[in-house]
Amino acid sequence: STIPDGRAGPSPRRQTVAVKVGHVTVGGGAPVVVQSMTNTDTADIDGTVRQVAALARAGSELVRITVDRDEAAAAVPKIRERLDRIGCDVPLVGDFHYIGHKLLADHPACAEALAKYRINPGNVGFKDKKDKQFSAIVETAIRYGKAVRIGANWGSLDGELLTSLMDQNARSPNPVEARAVTREAMVRSALYSAERAEEIGLSKDRIILSAKVSAVQDLIAVYQTLASRTDYAIHLGLTEAGMGSKGIVASSAALGILLQDGIGDTIRVSLTPEPGGDRSVEVKVAQEILQTMGFRTFVPLVAACPGCGRTTSTTFQELARDIQGYIVQSMPEWKTRFPGVENLNVAVMGCIVNGPGESKHADIGISLPGTGETPAAPVFIDGQKALTLRGANIAAEFKQLVDDYIVN
Ligand code: SF4
Repeated sequence: STIPDGRAGPSPRRQTVAVKVGHVTVGGGAPVVVQSMTNTDTADIDGTVRQVAALARAGSELVRITVDRDEAAAAVPKIRERLDRIGCDVPLVGDFHYIGHKLLADHPACAEALAKYRINPGNVGFKDKKDKQFSAIVETAIRYGKAVRIGANWGSLDGELLTSLMDQNARSPNPVEARAVTREAMVRSALYSAERAEEIGLSKDRIILSAKVSAVQDLIAVYQTLASRTDYAIHLGLTEAGMGSKGIVASSAALGILLQDGIGDTIRVSLTPEPGGDRSVEVKVAQEILQTMGFRTFVPLVAACPGCGRTTSTTFQELARDIQGYIVQSMPEWKTRFPGVENLNVAVMGCIVNGPGESKHADIGISLPGTGETPAAPVFIDGQKALTLRGANIAAEFKQLVDDYIVN
């Protein structure tokens, strides 16, 4: 057998119905959309505008905000207006639970200002009174021409649906089967709600589905099942992923496997920030997942070796960090002046073992001298050795070479 062609990349994207969320297209073959969510009180207009703008600047293409009470709903059109005034056109998604039907009915300007409503079938169900609430939200979306995300969640699953499935399975005491039943209930809850929304009159190109779970294997199983049963556009995300590296690793593992299968039209990485921490980290992680897997490009990649006993000093780590920082800082200007700059690959390597080879694969790369090597740093441009840097100014000179490469 032959080794598969690495350039073939991930599986073809699963065909889904395209949904317009404001000016952003989700699904239907469009690039996977990055989204995030604020953690400000939406009634705090200044704070929410600041955070939405920061998330959008970081690369969030949709931003979700909580709409949990009258004060928050009243603030939404003012937030939209303020964002428009500062030139931030990121579509806003309203996150509704329990009383969304009431808030949307009482605040028509909020219904208008949002590009999408996110509802949770677990707390806006389908029986009797609950169906009226669900229908009211869907009818509002139809009236205002908005998209709806139907987001089932493991932590707030439709109780009646789960009970009925458990009954069918004789309330199996086996925990493995019980888990399978819960997974099935997640999928059915999302699908049933979507079908009900269509029955009410919402067209398929206004519906996005999600079924968020906090355990990686459950998430993979639930989304694979969901994707096999429908062509609704899909929002992908591990819920309650957690803090720090745990949240990043869990999200990357779960989302990576599903994206590789062609599943997921928009993603959110839900990280718990440190108190007062930077919310936009979740946007960066989502972008890095998509970029490292070859789905999209956002910023030039800096390949750097980990360093080892052969690295002679901290110069190598400093240079890798400086170049990465320089690129991030320069991107806003580069993006407007040099379209396509995000596809650039830079390599910063610590010694001759892998340095020249890796640098040749990059657009521009440098191989710093390791222990016992001649104190010289060859630079490779487009796969060819272009020059050698020496002395104390290697970092500044290499930065200049990166600059020249981009300009030319
Ligand atoms: Fe170590 Fe050299 Fe490999 Fe970097 S390239 S990890 S310095 S052997």
